[in-house]
Amino acid sequence: MNKITKRLETIEDTEITQKVREAQIRQLYNQTWVGLMGGSVVSISICVALWEAIPQWKLLLWLSISLLFIFMRGFLTFAFQRKAPSGHTIYRWANLHVFGTIASGLMWAVPSVFLWPSHSATHQLVWSICIISTSASAVAMYFIWIPSYISFLSLSVVPISIRLLSEEGLVYIILGLLGLFFTVVLAQTGKMMHDASLRSLIISFRNEALSSLLLEEKTKQEALAIKLQSALDQLSQLSMTDELTGLWNRRFLNATVQEDVAQSIRNYRNIQQEPPKKTIDIDIFFIIIDLDHFKSVNDTYGHSIGDQVLVQMSQLLSSSFRNIDRIIRWGGEEFMMIVRNACRDDYTLLAERVRLAVETHQFDIGIEKPLRLTCSIGIAVFPFLPNWPEALNWDRVLEVADACLYAAKRSGRNAWIGLTPTEFATEKDFEVNFTKYVPNLIRDGKLEIKTSLPNNILISWAD
Ligand code: GH3
Ligand code: MG
Ligand code: MG
Repeated sequence: MNKITKRLETIEDTEITQKVREAQIRQLYNQTWVGLMGGSVVSISICVALWEAIPQWKLLLWLSISLLFIFMRGFLTFAFQRKAPSGHTIYRWANLHVFGTIASGLMWAVPSVFLWPSHSATHQLVWSICIISTSASAVAMYFIWIPSYISFLSLSVVPISIRLLSEEGLVYIILGLLGLFFTVVLAQTGKMMHDASLRSLIISFRNEALSSLLLEEKTKQEALAIKLQSALDQLSQLSMTDELTGLWNRRFLNATVQEDVAQSIRNYRNIQQEPPKKTIDIDIFFIIIDLDHFKSVNDTYGHSIGDQVLVQMSQLLSSSFRNIDRIIRWGGEEFMMIVRNACRDDYTLLAERVRLAVETHQFDIGIEKPLRLTCSIGIAVFPFLPNWPEALNWDRVLEVADACLYAAKRSGRNAWIGLTPTEFATEKDFEVNFTKYVPNLIRDGKLEIKTSLPNNILISWAD
């Protein structure tokens, strides 16, 4: 807020002063039309009233010059309004207005010297009344610009007051003094009106400046908030990305898996209420892939070649399985694929595709003979028990996938293994950490192994 107040102060010094001046001068010219019309009406009326009391040629000459001045000032006002000037040129227009009021004021000074009806007190009173009331109107019209109304007031009322004072008799003296008194009162009134209008103009421009500053600050803050959000997004993206391969890392899994499994559970609840006519894709596969004997790649070719192989492995997974949007670097040479909206019947096909893709890939390590590698794969499907979707949490399903991966390692590598509960399996069978009892559960017909390994191979579930 302090910053805004400081900026407002600097704005006030320069912009607001200029804006206030411009508004004052515009208002001055807008009100001039009424003054000019009033001046014409009063001048013509006086000529008619004094037609018999003063030589007519004098009256006509005075009227003609007065009307000429009024016409010229009208032209000036029209030009100002058409041009709508601003900036520093506007001060020139203010000066022109003051010249106009001086000219008109002088015309009202003339009668006290050249058009004075010496023999008729009534006609003298006509001049006095008309001049003082015209001056009062001029103050009411031009109070916004002090030089304009002061020049008109002093040029019109002071001469007639002096004229009255120079006449003989107490009444004239009193009238003359009253004239001077009115000059002071009108000047003071004009000053008060001027100050009040100035204050209201300053306040309105200050408010305008303040609200535009606030708007500016608000826009700035909104832009900053957007920048901050995008920086935070980038940061969070970076913190969830693996530096070497550009794949997601474990943090990404922690950030997203809850939502994925919740969705799958919701879908299962829906189909429990209303079973679908055909199978639908609402399962999640957790596939862990570990390169076989990767240590020997490092040992043979060096760590940086090992890195290159890991990058190529990540590219292989990303490009061969484009429709799988969650590929994670799970650890050193371990990768995890999370396949959502899948059908559990299909996981064997996908596992075989991954195994085959790695087995057939030629890793380019800058030597003539490309490197060939294999991988071992462990798979588990969430929900593990379709009839009890919430029985096993996602991290326990991952443990199953991990157990399968290590079973594949122990049983010869370059293979995939998955464990599927049979129709005899119930929620109770999996309450404890069942991965230790897999052989028992298989023997009891609660679990079924799915694997790429030949049937006659004995799969080893423990060291
Ligand atoms: P297994 O078939 O049993 O998986 O054998 P392995 O050699 O692949 O597994 P092991 O766990 O014995 O060794 C993994 C190796 O992966 C050891 C480590 O040096 C290497 N490794 C882990 N992270 C990186 C990495 O970021 N870059 C490189 N170049 N090597 C890595
Ligand atoms: Mg490993
Ligand atoms: Mg390995």
